[in-house]
Amino acid sequence: MEELVVESPFTEQEICVKCGLCCDGTLFSHAVLQKGERGNLPEKIEQQYGKEGESEFFTLPCAYFEGKCTIYNQKKAVVCSAFRCQLLKTFANGDVSQKDAIKIVTDALKFKAEIYQFYKQTFGVEFKLSFRELLAELNKMSPDTDPPNVPVELLRMKCNIYQTLLIKNFKSIKTFESMIESTVE
Ligand code: SF4
Ligand code: SF4
Repeated sequence: MEELVVESPFTEQEICVKCGLCCDGTLFSHAVLQKGERGNLPEKIEQQYGKEGESEFFTLPCAYFEGKCTIYNQKKAVVCSAFRCQLLKTFANGDVSQKDAIKIVTDALKFKAEIYQFYKQTFGVEFKLSFRELLAELNKMSPDTDPPNVPVELLRMKCNIYQTLLIKNFKSIKTFESMIESTVE
């Protein structure tokens, strides 16, 4: 979560309320804070505060996210009200209808649920953490086992496809193009 613009109109909020991918640790591992926000934030966001160099942030998933934001009508971090992903910008430009934007969100949530289900089938336990934490766990598993660990490789592949879809639909066009270029080279 890094880009800041004005408060979202109601039609955009109707899309967000079905989504939450920017709050639940699927798209991002942290959300950027403005200078001086620390000390005036909701308690759980204060607890998730971090700093790297000059950059201040709180880690995601957000503790206030329970299927949707549970402090929606209360004071939050600036980024919470101001952030708009690429999907919202595409919708605002009129390049996607609200119905299609909601379908993109629904499909993204469904795909993620399938990945978690596959994890459960593979390892016999539920993965209860966020998608970005799942990626971190997968990164810790060696890809060079002999013979290859087929279920793990399949899970890795599904996650890679999912990440591509997330970048295509929710991140900037520039990010998607740079990813495609680096794949083609
Ligand atoms: S990822 Fe986009 S559509 Fe989803 S909640 Fe965040 S801003 Fe809204
Ligand atoms: S406070 Fe609400 S909008 Fe902000 S990150 Fe947490 S769940 Fe998302």
